[in-house]
Amino acid sequence: MSAEAFPSTPSNIPSFDVHPYQPDGGYSSLGSALCIVMALIAAAIMGFVTSWIGQHFYLIILFPIGVGVVVGFTLNFAIRLGKVRSPWLGGVAGLMGGALSTVMMLFFDYQRQLSQVAQVDPQVWDRVELFEKLGMDKQKPRDMEQAEWNEWKLLIKVRKVDTFLKYIDYAAEEGVSIGRGSSKGFNLGYYGTLIYYGVEMLIIGFVAFAIGRSAAAEPYCTACNQWKVSKQLSDFVVRADRVNEWLDAIRLGTPLPRKDFDVFNAEGARYVTTLYRCPACGNSNPVDVKVEEVTIGNKGQEQKAEKVFVTYPGEAEPVLEALMEEPTVVEPDAPPPPPPPAASAEQVE
Ligand SMILES: [Zn+2]
Repeated sequence: MSAEAFPSTPSNIPSFDVHPYQPDGGYSSLGSALCIVMALIAAAIMGFVTSWIGQHFYLIILFPIGVGVVVGFTLNFAIRLGKVRSPWLGGVAGLMGGALSTVMMLFFDYQRQLSQVAQVDPQVWDRVELFEKLGMDKQKPRDMEQAEWNEWKLLIKVRKVDTFLKYIDYAAEEGVSIGRGSSKGFNLGYYGTLIYYGVEMLIIGFVAFAIGRSAAAEPYCTACNQWKVSKQLSDFVVRADRVNEWLDAIRLGTPLPRKDFDVFNAEGARYVTTLYRCPACGNSNPVDVKVEEVTIGNKGQEQKAEKVFVTYPGEAEPVLEALMEEPTVVEPDAPPPPPPPAASAEQVE
């Protein structure tokens, strides 16, 4: 079948019953449990990793985004495996992961402090205790060096931290410092630090939420209980003056041939059209068609924005495929391509 079978004269435009794409929202209890457990395991592991790296350096904002991406992609895997199509469930599992990873990072920080405390010579603790009993912990004794006094103060403080909640209180009192390199930087203070931990949870949670939500919204065949597979129908630059006409036609179920919208020499933006079909039942069940606008971000990365996402009846697939076929570049009236000798003459030049 070729694009010529559907000339763009109004009477011959193929027309299909379409409706906006909607995720079916289904999930099983096993699938949901898998998502939540895997998101939480990933969050706990990332909490451990950030706590460990955090001994050496810590990048605010960037670390939480990275953790969110790792939790999100783990969740994505669980969603595919557990066949969860409820975007809310996918999103909430991501949020839970976000909250847990920050808590776990602090928990592993606490565990490390406990093990450091355990390594201190018991005799030192005896002296710290005596120090406190004598009330000498309030003010620096005259004959003591400032550096030594700071150490004493730290030991006195650390000894009292014997629960996780007390550790969070201690960590907030120490405060998160924002600064580069070895400089101390600006300390957020007690409440600032607690707020920072909350913001961090939100960043991780939001990133994982967004990934989980979109993973669960992918097209699925409920008849065969499996995810649909995607197939790219077209990727071309649509002429700017006819973009809306082209998009509306796909949206309304009256798709038009690509050759009338390809830019040739005009201005336009790049659009990618993707079709989702069930590998088992093929055309006997509906297919989903997504059109995305592709732009280049300021860092040179490709950004895709969804413009159309509709469900077509299965029999539309071959028609869509034919309409989206790449048109032949040579126009009908154009002279035939130069014979080979001419090309070799060009090379000589
Ligand atoms: Zn199917």
